Amino acid sequence: MNSNIFNILTDKSLDNEQLLIASKVISNKRISEKDALTLYKKTELGFVSVLANYVRENLHGDKTFFNRNFHIEPTNICVYSCSFCSYVRKINQKGAWEYSVDQIIEIVEKYKGTSVTEVHIVGGVHPKRDLYYYGSIIKKIKEIIPHIHVKAFTAIELDFMIKKTKMSLKEGLLKLKEYGLDSIPGGGAEIFDEDIRKNICDQKSTTSMWLEIHETAHNVGIPSNATMLYGHVEEYKHRVDHMKRLRELQDKTSMFNTFIPLKYRKENNSMSHVGEVSTIEDLRNYAVSRIYLDNFPHIKAYWPMIGKQTAQLSLSFGVDDIDGTIDDTTKIYSMAGVEDNSPSMNTYEIVKLIKESKRQAIERDTLYNIVKKY
Ligand code: SF4
Repeated sequence: MNSNIFNILTDKSLDNEQLLIASKVISNKRISEKDALTLYKKTELGFVSVLANYVRENLHGDKTFFNRNFHIEPTNICVYSCSFCSYVRKINQKGAWEYSVDQIIEIVEKYKGTSVTEVHIVGGVHPKRDLYYYGSIIKKIKEIIPHIHVKAFTAIELDFMIKKTKMSLKEGLLKLKEYGLDSIPGGGAEIFDEDIRKNICDQKSTTSMWLEIHETAHNVGIPSNATMLYGHVEEYKHRVDHMKRLRELQDKTSMFNTFIPLKYRKENNSMSHVGEVSTIEDLRNYAVSRIYLDNFPHIKAYWPMIGKQTAQLSLSFGVDDIDGTIDDTTKIYSMAGVEDNSPSMNTYEIVKLIKESKRQAIERDTLYNIVKKY
């Protein structure tokens, strides 16, 4: 597949700007923000696909990663009201839930003795819950499944629970690490541009706080992921700015594992009038992020959000990871109108999906150590 890229250099339909970008990618040179904008605005889908695939195969060959995980969403009660959120409820509002500690333990018990390697915990920012509460839950999970990797709490949840406990960021993150926190998911980043952020989620933690939390986590040895919510009111320049800030932080710490573009879904939220972008736009976005974020080891397509078929297609657009098997425990996207209301795939299905794309399925743990090759 990589041979296609060399044909590009002799393609007479490409202008000098596009040829220059292609030659940078072929010689493993970093592309600029202007180049990324060109890829978004001016180039054909086939062009970005070939470049992104070149980067992807240089890094990982045909390897396509997934992991066995389950999700716990402790609550959808949240002090904030982001416009794009289909999930949030206030205390006592219809549709609000909060699992008790016993209910959470019951969920975890179901996975004892199975091959899951990760639990992913994210939810609303509950006004009454602090770091000690969530820390004790992590501790109990590790008592039930000692080897499990706990990837938990967006920067937004962390900001709130650490402040509520009156600790510094560093103290709070170290305390959570002591309880058993292993890594941090990438949520809450949305779009870093301050004006857009004000428009869609003006109450939640600021961009600089999101970045500071991840940097501090990295500095105390907690790796993390990063996301970008796209396809709403932002423009391409805002996506590039977002990725620029991530690339700069990654240059400092090298502790981000994965970049996960998250598609805005329109059902049941106050931004529904904005609509949704097309699958072509999703694929272009994966490709540009793979090409631009040269210091991120992995690009992930979160299949419960884009659907299984688009996830399969994304493997030709720079994506090398399609997340986990996931039980039917995630409501974040099912409440926002994704096609599949109770997303789940077993290992057989996920391996089949990858193999149909003529890629090699690799089961990984959270930190991309190989668990099994299929
Ligand atoms: S996106 Fe997160 S922080 Fe915003 S309202 Fe929804 S649950 Fe709360």
